Amino acid sequence: MAFPCPLCGAVSRVRTSRMLSATTKETYYNCSNHDCCHQYKTTEGDPLTVARPIPGGQAIPERQQRTLKGLKTPPVPALTRTPEGVVHRVGR
Ligand SMILES: [Zn+2]
Repeated sequence: MAFPCPLCGAVSRVRTSRMLSATTKETYYNCSNHDCCHQYKTTEGDPLTVARPIPGGQAIPERQQRTLKGLKTPPVPALTRTPEGVVHRVGR
């Protein structure tokens, strides 16, 4: 995946990435401009629902929902099940 260098605008390439939590990823980049050589990182996270994946969101069995082992803090869920139905955290 490419990302523009914040200093010179050249394409940067992913050097490595790691999951900080179930919903947060840290990505390290190297700028491809040899006159710049900027190395930086970005943080991707805080997922918000932009389109509901399944009507009501209740069709995914709990055993098929993805989890990451070894997490010390639980992730912020993108959806919450209530007796009235599913509540999505919706982004703008
Ligand atoms: Zn650069």
